[in-house]
Amino acid sequence: MRLLSRLAVVFALVATTAVAQTKVTPPKNKYTIEQDVQIGREAAAEVRQQYPLITDDRIEDYLDRLGKRLVATAPPALDRPQFEYSFTPVNLKDINAFALPGGPMFVNRGMIEAAAGEGEVAGVMAHELAHVLLRHGTANATKAQGFQLGALAGAIAGAVIGGGWGEVISQGSQFGLGTWLMKYSRDYEKQADLLGAQIMAQAGYDPRDLARMFETIQKQGGSTPPQWLSSHPNPGNRTEYINQEASQLKIAPRPDDAGFAQARARLASLPPARTMADVERAGGAGNRAPVSVGRVGDAVPPPSTQYRTVRGGQLFQLSVPANWTALASNSSVKYVPQNAYGPSNGQDVMTHGVELGVARAASRDLRQATQAFIDGIIQSNREMGVVGAQRNVRISGRAAILTPLEGRSVLGGPEHIDVYTTLLADGDLFYHLAVAPGRELGSYEAAFDRIVRSIRLNDR
Ligand SMILES: [Zn+2]
Repeated sequence: MRLLSRLAVVFALVATTAVAQTKVTPPKNKYTIEQDVQIGREAAAEVRQQYPLITDDRIEDYLDRLGKRLVATAPPALDRPQFEYSFTPVNLKDINAFALPGGPMFVNRGMIEAAAGEGEVAGVMAHELAHVLLRHGTANATKAQGFQLGALAGAIAGAVIGGGWGEVISQGSQFGLGTWLMKYSRDYEKQADLLGAQIMAQAGYDPRDLARMFETIQKQGGSTPPQWLSSHPNPGNRTEYINQEASQLKIAPRPDDAGFAQARARLASLPPARTMADVERAGGAGNRAPVSVGRVGDAVPPPSTQYRTVRGGQLFQLSVPANWTALASNSSVKYVPQNAYGPSNGQDVMTHGVELGVARAASRDLRQATQAFIDGIIQSNREMGVVGAQRNVRISGRAAILTPLEGRSVLGGPEHIDVYTTLLADGDLFYHLAVAPGRELGSYEAAFDRIVRSIRLNDR
């Protein structure tokens, strides 16, 4: 993405309701709007489980109203009907806010409490909204090389086979989710500042409040700079160019901001918020929905010799032991025996069973796409590694690769994971994982074998 040159600024004056504003063009993006929405939806579900949320109607409603007021003034050309906006207050002291692709936005209590007024909160939210509208997350992925795309798939797969998200979330930027997704370059930051300023003006806020909020945050710095500053680097002269843009914009009548004082009073009445570091030390926020099949740690019955045929949407069918339970999510489905899936040390783990799913392929070449996928899994599960050689095999009559992995089972001892990968007609990567503790592998091998051979793909 090019930075707007001064010349471009001069010639790109748009005479709509505003006096004049810089034209901001979304960067190149090879993803579909639906993929933005899908990635954001999945990541938001994880955030909701990992982060302590504020469940207070008045604060939630306030943030929702503010968010919707900003969305209402977003440029129609950028505001896609598919977007799924949400504005969720997070009960964390850290000064932070972030938006995920496709619309879910999270605003920390610390950010609302640090702001001098509604305009500053609106500034941060307008900036985040601009990242959504310009689709900067998937534009980042578009720029990135294959292995980073694999990292997303790996993060999702890693979460399932244990150890995944907690570590991913604690890496790099604190809100994690793969730093690749939301660590924006300086030119994206400038775009978000300029479009954010325009949205603010349309919604009745002085865009200079956005510049002021950056300064407010900077002052709160102390020994460690607030997260929002490190994940939203200053492109240089931030205050100057925001104020310059502001001087070119016509600001709509100021909305009633009585809600801000009410929300602040409400926050002041709540017990003090923790920091994200506190939450991580305590092992997560504990919002996870209690999805489990029995209880991890209790005895797991051997696979039934009776099989039943199951389907994964329109895409595939297979046979699994009749005593296994299906657990479906958006992009994958697991089949597990009793007591083989559930929380363990604050994370959902699968100790025995199989998972089938679809991930974005990093390459049209099966070997490269597989490598990226495996790299992603290993990156998000540091105790996991490839054991033995990869093998060329077949799934549903087509070329596939089997990669044997070994990690550490939450039940103790090594854990064995066979990862099968093959390409689908649309270029996506289909994967099949078979997981069992190393010491029980002998009693699962026959079942795993029969399951793999039963897989039928219907994508052609
Ligand atoms: Zn930003």
